[in-house]
Amino acid sequence: MLLLENIPLAPLTTIRIGGPAKYFVEAGNIGEVQEAVVFASSRDLPLFVLGGGSNLVVADAGWPGLVLKIAIPGIDWQGRHDEDGRVLFDVGAGESWDKFVSRSVMDRCAGIECLSGIPGSVGGTPVQNVGAYGQEVSETIASVLVLDLKDGQVRELCREACEFSYRSSIFNSTERERFIVLRVTYALAPEGKPHITYADLKRHFEGRETPPDLAETREAVRYIRALKGMLIVPGDADCQSAGSFFKNPVLSEEQHEDLKKRAAARGLSVPSYPALETRKKVSAAWLVEHSGFAKGFGSERVRISSKHALAIVNRGGATAADVLALKEQIQHRVQEIWGIRLEPEPVLLGF
Ligand SMILES: Cc1cc2nc3c(=O)[nH]c(=O)nc-3n(C[C@H](O)[C@H](O)[C@H](O)COP(=O)(O)OP(=O)(O)OC[C@H]3O[C@@H](n4cnc5c(N)ncnc54)[C@H](O)[C@@H]3O)c2cc1C
Repeated sequence: MLLLENIPLAPLTTIRIGGPAKYFVEAGNIGEVQEAVVFASSRDLPLFVLGGGSNLVVADAGWPGLVLKIAIPGIDWQGRHDEDGRVLFDVGAGESWDKFVSRSVMDRCAGIECLSGIPGSVGGTPVQNVGAYGQEVSETIASVLVLDLKDGQVRELCREACEFSYRSSIFNSTERERFIVLRVTYALAPEGKPHITYADLKRHFEGRETPPDLAETREAVRYIRALKGMLIVPGDADCQSAGSFFKNPVLSEEQHEDLKKRAAARGLSVPSYPALETRKKVSAAWLVEHSGFAKGFGSERVRISSKHALAIVNRGGATAADVLALKEQIQHRVQEIWGIRLEPEPVLLGF
């Protein structure tokens, strides 16, 4: 295990903001993860587990403890199938998520093609039950291998034990900070068809005579994401973000009625898409845009993306304090007008 000190964290995040980690270890195997955990607990240091830093805003003061970057590699398919005939891939938590999606598409296995172009690590995907364009990882995760910090044991959690729901799992809710994800086993459908249910994707393929295959779907998703600044493209000023900054609020029946009344009073109607209606979710982007925050709103250093109302972008030289101030301004105004408190999606570290 190589222990480093005073390592800047900003370059390890996609929004490129934040101070240093007092101690830093990059672990390439389970033994190194265990060693780092022992080091942190023996010195009573707070531990933070880092993946690809794509859902993260680090405070300007940094992190006073150990940052443990999970770099366990490997995409293994050893001819194993589940009882439904789906192919089982064991993927190291440190692998790039999009590299794994690309590999699955090349192997003509369906189930995660709509999640193309999402940055970050495979180990980060179960944490907030990553989802986009009509798919969520909870549909294809078979199990998750973890280090349990409660008793130091390595154990396999089945999908049900992860308690997945919209942008949530035990890893970011009830059992937060208890588990380190070491490997994720994905179950994908061999020779499966792409999942084209999302409106943007359907529109993209409108008028085609033959249905798109997995590779075409992957390319379409990446293309649509790039238009929205949701694909990391070197040189694109709208890319230095942590993705969507707010979750789509999930409302009670009563809250939903209240929102509709407030919208009607302004001569507006709340948009509803099948993907949102099933769970009474409301588009956070719509709320932001109808609270006076147009795309591009903000200052020189930090602003809302010019392509996506939900992304807060570091245009260069922004601090974590700048990002938080804009986040709070948006939350305050949305609450004032619509009576809804927007919850941030990225993890805020060290605040
Ligand atoms: C341009 C852009 C587009 C995005 N689009 C989407 C999208 O469409 N859908 C979506 O759901 N998300 C999206 N995101 C958010 C982000 O990419 C995902 O949440 C991603 O899975 C985060 O993984 P990560 O490895 O970068 O995690 P990090 O940002 O490093 O960490 C996030 C959290 O996960 C924990 N964590 C990470 N790895 C592990 C591990 N091995 N064990 C235990 N805990 C761990 C961290 O401790 C932290 O709490 C987007 C982000 C960006 C920048």
